[in-house]
Amino acid sequence: PLASSCPVMTPGTLTLVATPIGNLGDFSPRAAEVLSSAEIIACEDTRVTRKLLNLTGTTTSARIVAYHDHNGAAMRPWLLDQLATGKSVVLVSDAGTPLISDPGYKLVAACREQDIMVLSVPGPSAILAALAISGLPTDRFMFAGFLAGSSKARRDQISEIEGLRATTIWFETPFRIATSLAEMSKILGPRPAAVARELTKLHEEVRCGTLGELAEEMKAKKPKGEIVLV
Ligand code: SAM
Repeated sequence: PLASSCPVMTPGTLTLVATPIGNLGDFSPRAAEVLSSAEIIACEDTRVTRKLLNLTGTTTSARIVAYHDHNGAAMRPWLLDQLATGKSVVLVSDAGTPLISDPGYKLVAACREQDIMVLSVPGPSAILAALAISGLPTDRFMFAGFLAGSSKARRDQISEIEGLRATTIWFETPFRIATSLAEMSKILGPRPAAVARELTKLHEEVRCGTLGELAEEMKAKKPKGEIVLV
């Protein structure tokens, strides 16, 4: 059932807040409430998060601190101490859902070990947005992360999913998408696929076809922007 009376922010709780993947209209009222009432906001890049707060007119007296792969080992004990003393902490990433190819997994795991409450304010994620509009089966799917930069590692990643009976979802850069599709076509054959680009933004588009057809199209087109391959 829908409930609007849940606590906005519970002391000593880590709340994971999803943020827009391009369209500010996807910033939810609950995300705004939770960020407004937080005591500490941990984010990937403080400039990106301050900009989001400004653009959405969200005011907060929270202390805004950076939490990413490079300072995680040092910041985690501090954040856990703050939570243990009853501070409300929010974790956001630059865009989308925290932890999904973004920082936060070790922090949440440590909270679980220490019986610290973890809540979520769900919202945008490029994975589900791409899958849902791809036209490909949604009953079984696997998110496989970023495709590797080196071609040997990439071929290994692709070979791993050869026998998998599920739709697979990858993050890929516009510079490598054509090469990756061509390698996938070689290894996996003429499977149906979709390239979802710039989701929720002005130049949003989804191109569908076999892996080989899409490889040719992307090679000719040299796409720009952010891409999810389904
Ligand atoms: N945590 C994020 C989420 O939940 O969507 C994903 C973060 S990951 C570091 C960034 C990658 O997600 C991009 O390189 C791209 O592959 C994909 N992505 C993010 N925003 C996107 C968008 N608006 N359109 C298409 N792909 C997007």
